[in-house]
Amino acid sequence: MKSSREELRAEMLAEAEVVIDELLNWHESSEAPTLDEIEEVILGIRKRLGESMAGRVIGDQEAAHPVPGPACPTCGEEMHYKGMKDVRVEGRVGEMGLRRAYYYCDRCRSGLFPPG
Ligand SMILES: [Zn+2]
Repeated sequence: MKSSREELRAEMLAEAEVVIDELLNWHESSEAPTLDEIEEVILGIRKRLGESMAGRVIGDQEAAHPVPGPACPTCGEEMHYKGMKDVRVEGRVGEMGLRRAYYYCDRCRSGLFPPG
């Protein structure tokens, strides 16, 4: 089941506040940063927030934990749920740490993280 909008909103705001405080600390302690230095810090923040927000939304997809299990792409048998696993995914916004449901086909001895 999906998290409530308020739960996700509170989590994202808490993460954004941490990052904004870090930026303000850096801003207050930096005498005369160059444009390059400022951009470097901002790009780092954008990357972290992007990865974190994408991770929240992807991890909350209903398709990430389907019941019954998905059909095996090789043999068509229903795959069995084998628990949640932490995976790192390299996406367009960066590297995301995701907690995904893992499904396994006993016949083909292969597994996947839906939706794929
Ligand atoms: Zn199979």
